[in-house]
Amino acid sequence: MITDAKASDAKAPDAKGQGQLQGQDHRSNALDRLTTLFSKLPGIGKKSAGRIVYHILDSSPVLAASLAKELAGLHQAIRRCSICGCFTEADTCSVCTDTNRDHSIICVVESAQDVRIIEDSREFPGVYHVLGGLIAPLEGVSAGDLSIDKLISRIGAHNGQVKELILALNPTVEGDTTALYLQKQLKDFPVEITRLASGMPVGGNIEYIDKLTLSRSFRGRVKV
Ligand SMILES: [Zn+2]
Repeated sequence: MITDAKASDAKAPDAKGQGQLQGQDHRSNALDRLTTLFSKLPGIGKKSAGRIVYHILDSSPVLAASLAKELAGLHQAIRRCSICGCFTEADTCSVCTDTNRDHSIICVVESAQDVRIIEDSREFPGVYHVLGGLIAPLEGVSAGDLSIDKLISRIGAHNGQVKELILALNPTVEGDTTALYLQKQLKDFPVEITRLASGMPVGGNIEYIDKLTLSRSFRGRVKV
């Protein structure tokens, strides 16, 4: 996406005549291009993007160089954990390799970002499984597009060692559909399935819930 935007921005001046280019130069300089790129990020509007770019310009060039280096190498440095699907620099993430965690409880989440939010609450002692989305037929997302088969294999491979599956899915139509599907798929496994309950607003999003509410949701989870 960003590469595409960069490419189209770069092409724009070429499409104009030289006179027009000079006249519009102030609108397509590096500062504006970077502001446009930052404003494409979630939660950052045009004004915030501008503030970030001016801050970078006012700071030491080391900051810009460090940002550029980390961004350029991000996709090479970070991969999905081969067990749970979280982002990690190693083949297996620090949660999956932590022997102090309770590996008999798996918390199922929609995205890797949800893992970070739940970890910040320090409420959950178990391990995770990232689905990579929710079942959404209207958007063309089916169970086969998600990491559900992997979850079932994971539970099966541990042969009864997984005691509880906590579905920390958003209380939306998609979250409910996914929870119901998982419940059906796992009905023959000796695993208790619970879902975050109290404290989660209907139609809400885990991403926007404060730590205390999330803590209460974990404590108040219900069997499904
Ligand atoms: Zn992991």
